[in-house]
Amino acid sequence: MSLREQLCEYGRRAVELGLVIGTSGNLSVREGDLVAVTPSGAALDRLTPEMCPVVDVEGYLVEGDLQPSSETPMHLAVYATTDAKAIVHTHSVFGTIVATTMTELPPVHYNALLLGGVVKVAEYATYGTPELAANVQAAMEGKKAALMANHGGVTVGATLEEAFEATRLLEWLCEVYVRGLSVGKPAVLTNEQLNAVIERALNPPTFPRRL
Ligand SMILES: [Zn+2]
Repeated sequence: MSLREQLCEYGRRAVELGLVIGTSGNLSVREGDLVAVTPSGAALDRLTPEMCPVVDVEGYLVEGDLQPSSETPMHLAVYATTDAKAIVHTHSVFGTIVATTMTELPPVHYNALLLGGVVKVAEYATYGTPELAANVQAAMEGKKAALMANHGGVTVGATLEEAFEATRLLEWLCEVYVRGLSVGKPAVLTNEQLNAVIERALNPPTFPRRL
């Protein structure tokens, strides 16, 4: 599947799963110095490959008639400082709730390790600005996800599928946390507990075959 076809596929899935309402999100995928990105102001479930612009890593338009997403500077800033090959940004409900009320998402489930543990909330700045791009870049350091204050969430991956699954996981973790807060005080896993999970994952048990 071409990069632009991938954007159409995952754009459609993001809307289907309710992670994106209409135009409130954007996706990009990188190959070499080129980045295919969803266009500005287009519904993500109605994209065609030709609609998706291609920019270079310096932000020059290389292909396409439509303007790239207004959040393209944020995508390029993340590509510039990570080895990410794909980025997904949405205004998903529970991610946005956490991003409007807290300064970070604590690890209340060990699967948070897949995103780098604690998910930080990038300081608020107007959408599409270099300030927001810099704030997200800082919050993403060493992580696969960040939340953007009063805005939404952003995840990275080695493929668009990976970045998309990270967005689903981020939303699930935020939902567990927010719903947990409504019935009690969610317990946060300690570093010791998280290290034990890493240890366990690195040394899975093997089951002897019955002879
Ligand atoms: Zn946004």
